[in-house]
Amino acid sequence: MYEIILLSLILTYSGIVLYLLFLLSPILVFFGVAIFYLYLSAPQGEDLGQALEYFQARKFGKKELVFVKPFFEKNKLPIPVLWVVQNEHIFNAFAFTYQGKHNVAVSERMFLYGERKLYSVLAHEMAHFDGRDTQFDNIISVARLVGTSGTILYGIIVSAASFSFPTLLFFFAIAGIFSVVSEYFMDFWFSIGQEARADVRGALYTEDVEAHMEMLLDICAEYGPDMGSKKIVERRISYLLSVMNH
Ligand SMILES: [Zn+2]
Repeated sequence: MYEIILLSLILTYSGIVLYLLFLLSPILVFFGVAIFYLYLSAPQGEDLGQALEYFQARKFGKKELVFVKPFFEKNKLPIPVLWVVQNEHIFNAFAFTYQGKHNVAVSERMFLYGERKLYSVLAHEMAHFDGRDTQFDNIISVARLVGTSGTILYGIIVSAASFSFPTLLFFFAIAGIFSVVSEYFMDFWFSIGQEARADVRGALYTEDVEAHMEMLLDICAEYGPDMGSKKIVERRISYLLSVMNH
């Protein structure tokens, strides 16, 4: 419920900023939309490729595909684009939608993890697609980008017109607050809800709640107590158990 309010607030703010920019100069908005459109229709995988290269990712090999295939067959799920992240400092998995295609990236070390836990990881990531979480995330990051950069742009134009430095600072402050607050709420509120729901749906795929819990604890242990992740994992596990025991 809170998530919907939050989401609406972020979208409304970005909408207002766009509207203000439009009032200032419609060309500005058309220009922005055109850049955004070009960005989205950029050659397939270019940006994604760079990001994955940064994380030293490669596509699944034949052996890895054979290893995970039973999971997808059992649950009648279409196989997404699968990536192995070879960076040894990363021990996690990610689901994202890129140009309408589902992608899942998994740390290489998770293959040493045994079938049960690896399937739990995949089930959790696939559950994010069921919940349209990745599309939501994309919308939210675009709205945050529009809200933040739009506020800065608006501030620059308005303050330049009146040669007012305090006005510029004011809009910079508003942009900063919007960026930080929306990020904080998305990371520590919205995304925890998403994760908790993906845990439940994932455990329903594998029908193996225990492996799902172990997988969460392993990732948490690997991360250490930074960012309060242990607390979050504990909350996710208790939510998972409370739903599955009903
Ligand atoms: Zn997740």
